[in-house]
Amino acid sequence: MADADPLLDLPPAMPEAWWRARDAALGVWPAEDLERLRGRAEAAYLGLALGDALGATLEFMTPREVAAFHGVHREIVGGGWLHLKPGRVTDDTEMSLALGRAIRERGGVVSARAAAEAFSAWMSRKPVDIGHTVRRGISAFRRTGVPWVPDNPQNAGNGAVMRCLPVVLATFGAPWPQVVRALRLQGHITHTCALADAGMEAVAALVQVALAAPRGDTAALDDVIALAASVTPELSPEGKPEAGPSGFIVETLRAVFQALQTTTGFEAAMVDVVNRGGDADTTGAILGMIAGALHGPESLPKRWLKKLDPETRAACTEQAAALIGFSPAVSGAKRAVATD
Ligand code: MN
Ligand code: MN
Repeated sequence: MADADPLLDLPPAMPEAWWRARDAALGVWPAEDLERLRGRAEAAYLGLALGDALGATLEFMTPREVAAFHGVHREIVGGGWLHLKPGRVTDDTEMSLALGRAIRERGGVVSARAAAEAFSAWMSRKPVDIGHTVRRGISAFRRTGVPWVPDNPQNAGNGAVMRCLPVVLATFGAPWPQVVRALRLQGHITHTCALADAGMEAVAALVQVALAAPRGDTAALDDVIALAASVTPELSPEGKPEAGPSGFIVETLRAVFQALQTTTGFEAAMVDVVNRGGDADTTGAILGMIAGALHGPESLPKRWLKKLDPETRAACTEQAAALIGFSPAVSGAKRAVATD
């Protein structure tokens, strides 16, 4: 095992001209607009959980199987290969909540070790679902105490992206290279891979841009998707529609970007992405955080919120407010991102 994470301090993937302009424009959030930002952060977190709960029914199905068994799937009904209760979420939301708790307990500081310990405690509670790469990374941390795995192109799964929202919220308004470093600290516990990092960075950019954008302004997202695709061409949504996207970050994010760009509004985008089947709980979760941040709490279907497991719903709401409260845009602090 090398003695330093080889990818941690590489420059951001997003173009420097983009993040310098963004950092200069963002500054400190106006106090009179704080309620709106809290609402958007909460909608992002609930969007993640709703997408997870909606999509889990269809995980690992082909689009053809989805159509045959469900027609168009648009209700939270549980089931799926995990035989879930309606409104039950999976590892995507549970790992996010574990990471969010670790950040809260450290007063807003993102610590790789604290996050790895939180993931390890979550794995001990026998989660309903856990990916191979995630299990391998957490097991390695238990053996070695090192909260990052070696660089490996095989780690280009979506497991670090699906749980990154707490870091995205807690670092809102921090200089972009610090946001990116914090993302990698949590991501590399299980996924150390330049392509997975680029995907995580693109999703974080989308969520943070969406939080600040006028409500429903999809053009703001299109610009970020185009820039992300210009530096990481694999992520471009151009070309054939993703059907049955796997857990490979490229397929997952192409499906998410295509759904965002071919629909209008939170519910339509969510229905589009999960009905593609494949890793549907995770495409739903990732799309949910972006679309929730952009469209806000009013856009979340009430009938879905009613179905969502009440404890999960409360935890997402509470964490969203706490995490955005730690963010430099709100607190005004130039918070350093700690490793230990
Ligand atoms: Mn899952
Ligand atoms: Mn999944």
